[in-house]
Amino acid sequence: MSKRVVIALGGNALGNTPQEQVAAVKETSKAIVDLIEEGYEVVISHGNGPQVGMINQAMAEYDRALHGDPNLTPLSVCVAMSQAYIGNDLQNAMREELLNRGIKKSVSTIITQVRVDKDDPAFLNPSKPIGSFMTKEEAARLEEKGFKVVEDSGRGYRRVVASPMPKEIIEIDTVKTLLEAGEVVITCGGGGIPVVKEGNSLNGVGAVIDKDFASSLLAKEIDADLLIILTAVEKVAINFNTPNVKWLDKLTTSEAIEYIEQGHFAKGSMLPKVQAAINFASSGEGRGALITLLEKAKDGIKGKTGTIIRD
Ligand code: ADP
Ligand code: MG
Repeated sequence: MSKRVVIALGGNALGNTPQEQVAAVKETSKAIVDLIEEGYEVVISHGNGPQVGMINQAMAEYDRALHGDPNLTPLSVCVAMSQAYIGNDLQNAMREELLNRGIKKSVSTIITQVRVDKDDPAFLNPSKPIGSFMTKEEAARLEEKGFKVVEDSGRGYRRVVASPMPKEIIEIDTVKTLLEAGEVVITCGGGGIPVVKEGNSLNGVGAVIDKDFASSLLAKEIDADLLIILTAVEKVAINFNTPNVKWLDKLTTSEAIEYIEQGHFAKGSMLPKVQAAINFASSGEGRGALITLLEKAKDGIKGKTGTIIRD
C-alpha cells in the first residue's frame, strides 16, 4: 500500500500578489508532484494569512465606499474567498505539472468548512497574524482603529485575529471519497472556513483557524502516515534568532514539549507547527511529522534534511 501524506503549504508556497501566486504555485507543484512520482498519495492543505488579509482589507474598503461600513463582509466569507483564489491557481498548476510528467490524475479544490467551538477561549484573545507586514507607524494607525496588532518573529508588525481550534472537518467524507478514487485533493485551505453548528445550520464565525492545526486534524481523519509542513525554514531550531541557534534533525514528542515549555518556538509561526506535529505524531502508531523547506520536500521525505518529529 502506498504511503499517505498531508502536505501543508505555508506562505512562501503561494506568494503575496495574484501574479506572484501564479509563479509560486508552479514551483510548489513541482515539489508536490515529485512526491506523487515517488508513489505517495497526497492531500494538500495551505495557509492564507497574507491572502485573507488582502481580501479582508479589499472588502473593508469596498464596504466602506459603497455602504459606509467597513465591517459588512464576515471574516469567514473572506476565508471562503481565499480558498477559491488559492485553490484555483494551485489546482491548475498541479494539473499542468502532472500532465508535463505524464501522470493522469484529477486535482480539485474542496471548499472546506471546519467546525470550531463557539466558547473557544481564542475568541477572547486574538493571536493569529494575517495580512502583510507593517511598519511600527502603520501598526499604530491600525491599532487606533480598534484592531489588535503584534510584532511577528522580528519581521515587522501584523494584525492578529482569533484562531480557535479545529474540531471537525465538515467535508471530510468528500475528501476521503476523492482520495480513494486516486485523485489529488486540496482541502482545509486557510485552516478551513470557521463555522459553528446550530441545529442543522452551519454559521460562519469571525476567525482564521491555523492551517497547521487543521492539517493535523486532516491527517488524523484520513489516517495519513506523515504530516509534512512545508515552510520558509529548512529545520526547526532552538535558540532561534540568537548566536546559539541549534537546528534540529530529530525531535521526540516529549523533547518537543520540553522545548515549547522553554519558549523556543514563536507564537503564531513555529509554535503551531510544532504543536500540530506533536498532536499528529502522538495520535497513533507509526505516525510522524516533517517540518522543512518547500524546496527540500523530496530530500526531507527521504530523511536527508528537515526536522522529523516522532513519538
Ligand atoms: P508559514 O507561512 O509557512 O506558516 P510562518 O511564518 O507562520 O510560516 O512560520 C515559519 C517561520 O517561523 C520561519 O520562517 C521562522 O522565521 C519562524 N520561526 C520562529 N521560531 C522558529 C524556530 N524556533 N525555528 C525555526 N523557525 C522559527
Ligand atoms: Mg504560519
